Amino acid sequence: MAASDVGLRARHLFQSAFGEAPTVVARASGRVNLIGDHIDYAGGTVLPMALSAHTVAAAGALGMEGVDAAVDQFTSEWSGATKADSDAWKRYPRGVLDALREAGYQIPLLKIALASDVPVGAGLSSSAALEVSVARAALLSIGLAVEPRTIALICQRAEHVSAGVPCGIMDQWVVAHAQSGEALHLDCAALQSSFVSLPDTMRIEVIDSGVRHALSDGGYAERRADVETATRKLGVGYLAHLPRVRWPEIAELAPRIARRARHVVTEAARVHDAMRALASNDIEHFGALLFESHQSLRDDFEVSVPELDALVTRARSDGALGARMTGGGFGGSIVVAWRS
Ligand code: ADP
Ligand code: MG
Repeated sequence: MAASDVGLRARHLFQSAFGEAPTVVARASGRVNLIGDHIDYAGGTVLPMALSAHTVAAAGALGMEGVDAAVDQFTSEWSGATKADSDAWKRYPRGVLDALREAGYQIPLLKIALASDVPVGAGLSSSAALEVSVARAALLSIGLAVEPRTIALICQRAEHVSAGVPCGIMDQWVVAHAQSGEALHLDCAALQSSFVSLPDTMRIEVIDSGVRHALSDGGYAERRADVETATRKLGVGYLAHLPRVRWPEIAELAPRIARRARHVVTEAARVHDAMRALASNDIEHFGALLFESHQSLRDDFEVSVPELDALVTRARSDGALGARMTGGGFGGSIVVAWRS
């Protein structure tokens, strides 16, 4: 869908819900992670890319009375949601407004309408797109341009506190920093990123399995807790920084913790190798690293599902350079690299 269509939908939604035109409109892209999953919170470097799919928040001041309100096009067509769940999405915009106010920004009470063509719960960061679009609209409403780093940290806090998902910084960072089609090399410990250009001999495709995760269901938090256990037992600041000479110590951990740790250290190394492969236009090696990453997420980190495995196997037999599940897992999408 073209950018303007989503923007138009948000404006129309605002008009029909609130009987007036919005005063500000802001957008934020979804993202696909090319390689480096479940290592942002372990201090690794990652390689995500902003998608053309995006979320638009249209907002206007609510006046001095009332509460923040939001409407959204998914509410009526949300498959599988119970009635109680059908409002759960409001935790995200509300969390962002709370986090902004806590950080000292004088955001007035707002009414917000949202439209999006980022598939929800597909591992493409609809949550960060929602958060960042709302943060941008809220800041625009008071005429402030705030640096992307601050927006990313506030939105991450909103996801932790309000949505209850202990996510790393990758999603909010890339969504706050990159525009459609731009890839970033992000060091999640130093909080520094730079733009990366992909070779034009390679084409990236995203395939949605249709299987839906709910990251607040617990699998994500369990994995993060396992990584924290390994970090503590190995006595390092960040697990992704464990020097290679110390990798043999991983085998001494309890079997499940060892598998989690092995994924983290090898995935961090793969991102490093992937950057080198891109720098030398070695797209075959880049692709091979994607396949390896999938295997590690499937066998060691145990966050894949059979539908994602099947899509990766099919991409391989169709001649892809590489393919892997992308995002938090438990459903969602795969990312495929093809020779263009
Ligand atoms: P992902 O970020 O990979 O799409 P998450 O589980 O992190 O998956 O976030 C999905 C949740 O974000 C949804 O369950 C919903 O609560 C919220 N959400 C994201 N985008 C929208 C949207 N456009 N409309 C309503 N809710 C949304
Ligand atoms: Mg998310």
